[in-house]
Amino acid sequence: MNRDDLAALDSADPLALLRELFTLPEGMVYLDGNSLGALPRATAQRLHDVVTREWGEGLIGSWNTSDWISLPRRVGDKIARLVGAGPGEVVVADSTSVNLYKVLAAALSVAAEDAPDRRLVVSERSNFPTDLYVAGRLCAERGYELVAVDAPADIEALLPGAAVLMLTQVGYRTGRLHDMTAVTRQAHDHGVLTVWDLCHSAGALPVDLTAAGADYAVGCGYKYLNGGPGSPAYLWVRPGLADRFEQPISGWMGHAAPFEMSPDYRPAEGIGRYLSGTPSVLGIAALECGVDTLLAADEHGGLEAVRAKSLALTRLLADLVEQRLPGVFTVESPRADDERGSQVSLSCPEGAFAVVQALIARGVIGDFRAGGEEGPDILRFGVTPLYTRYVDVWDAVEQLSQVMESGEWREERFATRGAVT
Ligand SMILES: *Cc1c(COP(=O)(O)O)cnc(C)c1O
Repeated sequence: MNRDDLAALDSADPLALLRELFTLPEGMVYLDGNSLGALPRATAQRLHDVVTREWGEGLIGSWNTSDWISLPRRVGDKIARLVGAGPGEVVVADSTSVNLYKVLAAALSVAAEDAPDRRLVVSERSNFPTDLYVAGRLCAERGYELVAVDAPADIEALLPGAAVLMLTQVGYRTGRLHDMTAVTRQAHDHGVLTVWDLCHSAGALPVDLTAAGADYAVGCGYKYLNGGPGSPAYLWVRPGLADRFEQPISGWMGHAAPFEMSPDYRPAEGIGRYLSGTPSVLGIAALECGVDTLLAADEHGGLEAVRAKSLALTRLLADLVEQRLPGVFTVESPRADDERGSQVSLSCPEGAFAVVQALIARGVIGDFRAGGEEGPDILRFGVTPLYTRYVDVWDAVEQLSQVMESGEWREERFATRGAVT
């Protein structure tokens, strides 16, 4: 296998045309779409229009004339198509952290009524920290105990005493993928509600919340959905549960009739009650452009094709690293396709941060995640099938080989950490 073979794969790739939907800097290999998705070409024009025409000229009337008020539901309906939810089941709002607070609080209220003796919320120590922070605080407030297990195999033994199982479908460190259907079934067999975080799965692989029988889900807009930095997030609640209990941030946008201005809160029916404050119109407008890039894949095989290419690219990356740099890096991501998301994580005995910096200096953008108790320091490379090419993977491993063979990663300039890694 050489670079020409991979260029041939790119020529035959049914998704290749979608790269044109993005503006990517010339000469850069961007392998960080799992952290901040690339800029869709449509976004700048759309935001310009929202700012100058809808806001500048339409001013407050645009809440009606440009239908700003229904943006959270309209874009929610588009996201629903990516996560196996129905129309009217997803809303865009707030950040993932805040939405997690809302759905976990709702889940605990349901559990308190249906199974009051269960006092545990179960998650994994390898979960994204904000999920654990939010859950930990909420558990303390409500008299629950958060138990974060070391390995998935430890979960089952805790289910008999659990109220809620809160998992991230694809782990941010190693990219390990949970079988959402099997895990949800196991939880339900024990009478446990499930909360799924889709941040690293939605948009990267087919997700089917309905088929999995999941209960609650949240996800973010700025990773695989390409919504831009700080993009609003989204949430979903199984229709049968959406009307059970109020979510805790009972703001006016979740009221059944916000403009009645009633002093008494009356929650909207269904998912609408999970809205809190005024929607971020600029943020949701940008998110819609990002989601549209994924919906454009529908005509080229859809998320099944995205998944097939994602697996081919991650397999290629791991194989090339092992062939070209034997013994230098350990592949920390699962090698089995059905256990891996859309990233390859590597570790090395020393210098992971500096190696990533040296690669960035050569135009290959990955990122670094600190280890600690949860494992070794990680070099993370995300692939985004809408714009990552087979030759990009080849070029990234070529640059990585040069960084290691030259030893340039040891240079002082690659040792300094910024506020964001
Ligand atoms: C990226 C990510 C988040 C981010 O949460 P924000 O509130 O949007 O900053 C949360 N959880 C997981 C699993 C993530 O991957």
